[in-house]
Amino acid sequence: MTEHQLLKIEQEFESPVYVYDAEKIESQYKRLTDAFKSVKHLKINYAVKALSNISILKLFNSLGSGIDTVSIQEVKLGLAAGFKPDQIIFTPNGVSLFEIEEAAKLGVKINIDNLSILEQFGTKHPKTPVCIRINPHVMAGGNANISVGHIDSKFGISIHQIPHILRIVENTKMNINGIHMHTGSDILDIEVFLYASEILFETAKQFKNLEFIDFGSGFKVPYKLGDIETNIEELGKKLSSRFNAFCKEYGKDLTLAFEPGKFLVSESGYFLTKVNAVKQTTSTVFAQVDSGFNHLIRPMFYGSHHDIINISNTKGRERFYTVVGYICETDTFGNNRRINEINEGDVLAFKNAGAYCFSMASNYNSRFRPAEVLWHNNKAHLIRKRETFDDIIANQIEVDFSPKKEKQLVK
Ligand SMILES: *Cc1c(COP(=O)(O)O)cnc(C)c1O
Repeated sequence: MTEHQLLKIEQEFESPVYVYDAEKIESQYKRLTDAFKSVKHLKINYAVKALSNISILKLFNSLGSGIDTVSIQEVKLGLAAGFKPDQIIFTPNGVSLFEIEEAAKLGVKINIDNLSILEQFGTKHPKTPVCIRINPHVMAGGNANISVGHIDSKFGISIHQIPHILRIVENTKMNINGIHMHTGSDILDIEVFLYASEILFETAKQFKNLEFIDFGSGFKVPYKLGDIETNIEELGKKLSSRFNAFCKEYGKDLTLAFEPGKFLVSESGYFLTKVNAVKQTTSTVFAQVDSGFNHLIRPMFYGSHHDIINISNTKGRERFYTVVGYICETDTFGNNRRINEINEGDVLAFKNAGAYCFSMASNYNSRFRPAEVLWHNNKAHLIRKRETFDDIIANQIEVDFSPKKEKQLVK
């Protein structure tokens, strides 16, 4: 999308607003499927939690994608978007047996990552096929918060507990149809990923009725110049040939599944905000925008970098700005960034605002969550209205503290 198109969208829908470029989502999806085209059965299950607007889900449905869901609400959202139950996989962590049963009743694929729940579910529903989430204990990336494969992780069943899984399967006669791993959010090194995949293949051999192997996600996209990005094409080449060889050995053409979120939607997104005030202190020039970590929490929560550009003044002289928000708490979006000269009223665009941005937004400071716009076929479609004051008070229940009422109660 061009800066001019983004500016026009801000003029029409006002700030703060999220904008998603459908073409970028489609090209990322195609890049992934092209990289694995030598695999007979490939399934991409888009991770809904990255960006869960129903129109985005419908776009993925039209591309032939399935979805990966982590709550019963996401399952229902997927069904509402038109996905068939068998195009949905439920991959929760730490949810109740009841919630898993509810998802199974809706006919979606079930992924279990806990021995206790596996045994209970298998005992009650031995006929419902189940996929197992394995923790191969491989560290992908360096950030402990987003590496979910290490030994103390709450995710997955440890590979050291495979004998327990086998005992449960034997005792309950349940049917294991898939093996899954999701090692973390940053695959920097393809060799590390392939190493974890070998562990998964080794595990898969122990289950005779598999239909698919799910390699999770963790594809890294660039957030700034010089960032390492997962080389999808190289991974596709290497993993495809290894997977095809495994299928031969296994004696069946299994489905190779992935469940990316960030890779598919991150770069499609722009978050547009307006500068309320430029504030010069003795050491810093602050640009204060009409947003905060209530709308985009990644910089404050994960220390993430989002490039920020001034789309109102793309030719202006570059100066240093610290971009902050308007909520009553430290909400820095970027420190000492070189940005084209900013004037009050200018529109700043945050890049890579597709994944884990709107979906993590809140009403903190009693602010409205932003509107969302999908740019598709050269047209801006409003896909979520900005909230209004009615949304803020909708579920709140007022207690009457007037003295008269108190007396009546006493009587
Ligand atoms: C969040 C999540 C994903 C998506 O991860 P990305 O880093 O956004 O690609 C995939 N699988 C599971 C189980 C998840 O929880």
